[in-house]
Amino acid sequence: MENTPRAGVPRPVLVVDFGAQYAQLIARRVRELQLYSEIVPHSTPVSELLARDPAAIILSGGPASVYAADAPGVDPALFGTDVPVFGICYGFQAMARALGGTVAQTGRREFGGTPLLVDTPGAVLADLPAEQSVWMSHNDAVTVAPDGFAVTARSAGAPVAAFEDTARRLAGVQFHPEVAHTPRGQDVLRRFLFDVAGLTPNWTTGSVIDDQVAAIRAQVGDAAVLCALSGGVDSAVAAALVHKAVGDQLTCVFVDHGLLRAGEAEQVERDYVAATGIKLKVVDAAETFLSQLAGVTEPEQKRKIIGREFIRTFEAAAREVAAAEGVQFLVQGTLYPDVVESGGGTGTANIKSHHNVGGLPDDLAFTLVEPLRTLFKDEVRAIGAELGLPTEMVQRHPFPGPGLAIRIIGAVTPERLTMLRAADLVAREELTAAGLDGEIWQFPVVLLADVRSVGVQGDGRTYGHPVVLRPVVSEDAMTADWAKLPYDVLARISTRITNEVPEVNRVTLDITSKPPGTIEWE
Ligand code: GLN
Repeated sequence: MENTPRAGVPRPVLVVDFGAQYAQLIARRVRELQLYSEIVPHSTPVSELLARDPAAIILSGGPASVYAADAPGVDPALFGTDVPVFGICYGFQAMARALGGTVAQTGRREFGGTPLLVDTPGAVLADLPAEQSVWMSHNDAVTVAPDGFAVTARSAGAPVAAFEDTARRLAGVQFHPEVAHTPRGQDVLRRFLFDVAGLTPNWTTGSVIDDQVAAIRAQVGDAAVLCALSGGVDSAVAAALVHKAVGDQLTCVFVDHGLLRAGEAEQVERDYVAATGIKLKVVDAAETFLSQLAGVTEPEQKRKIIGREFIRTFEAAAREVAAAEGVQFLVQGTLYPDVVESGGGTGTANIKSHHNVGGLPDDLAFTLVEPLRTLFKDEVRAIGAELGLPTEMVQRHPFPGPGLAIRIIGAVTPERLTMLRAADLVAREELTAAGLDGEIWQFPVVLLADVRSVGVQGDGRTYGHPVVLRPVVSEDAMTADWAKLPYDVLARISTRITNEVPEVNRVTLDITSKPPGTIEWE
């Protein structure tokens, strides 16, 4: 546990995670209020929480029952520290119990939209209507509030649905203010953090850039730094931040494996370099990748070949740069959700760099620079935009490392890549023209290269390939649903692809959710 105040970030609002479905969402909501927030495991001792110098603490929901023998508790010492604390659901119940209130089953569980009755709004529920719908998900309820707390709201199944002790800056709610199903939820968090806890917003795109630039300078000094650009937003923004901090001490390497979509290599080589002034080494490895992939149809084998070739190519380029400049640091676009998922901020910084880039040899060990470690994806995009990176790059949908190779069902050939690039470009252009980029998480266009079907064009018989449109909506790629794109947009994409890509005579739509289907076809 990094248990001291961190370089490059303001005092955090710590979200203590009791196993909540929504812990990351709580942190995001706090950040939307321009306050820096991080998630910590519930096993963190109070002394360690305090060592982080938190601006406030939020106790999350969780699956346990607070009165069960092995339930994770809250150390009552937390409430004597002067740090403002807000409890949500389980965190609210745990807080009630630690302070001498009562938690029990009322015989009336509540799941989903539930009417909340605000009797005496107090500070946290100020200005809320006397009755509104909130999102509940609980078996237990607080039946008696601890001494000194005012009860401000109730629901049918939760006699104490919200309480507060503003003098001690402690409060909590039974419902989930962080989810969109609680329409006034963000107001509840805002009231607590600003009015009760007395915090001032200090986490903005501009402040993040300034703080990270200072932190990178402190870490890197005057040493040389290397970064692999993929064409994706994370590596592009990470490199741009490092470049802003240390200028030409940074060298970027772009391995063009020939499997990118139309215009993407040019975006990196031309627009990105023009926007940032970054020193870029381009390795054109398309022929090597294509010859290694020749005749390969099995998806896992494709992925393995591409992974292996990428490491080989990047390693050779890294050696050249290192020989010339003595590189000590490697930039990595690790995001905050990856950090949380690999142990809530514990120790991931120590993973050897070559694990992160998938197999660089030991004599090429670098220390990692990870300027996005504290950020969510939407924050990374905002920073990229502020740094003036090309919009197409900043707003780009997720695109897999193996690129178009896993969107060609069948063997990869230059002709098939050309076909798919043309079809994919049409889909992207029409989606953008319809103003729908922001609604869609990812939009694979897949070429069924080994399938043919009969068609008719200009009174002549055709025997061409189908493409599949696979637009999906998702929160986090773990689950996804097929996107209900307007028919007229689908129609334009279909007409243009069959007109503009001669080998394609049929366009189909994938209407499978994930699960059971994955987002990509291979
Ligand atoms: N497990 C607790 C209950 O059922 C809290 C639930 C929650 O935090 N969502 O009441």
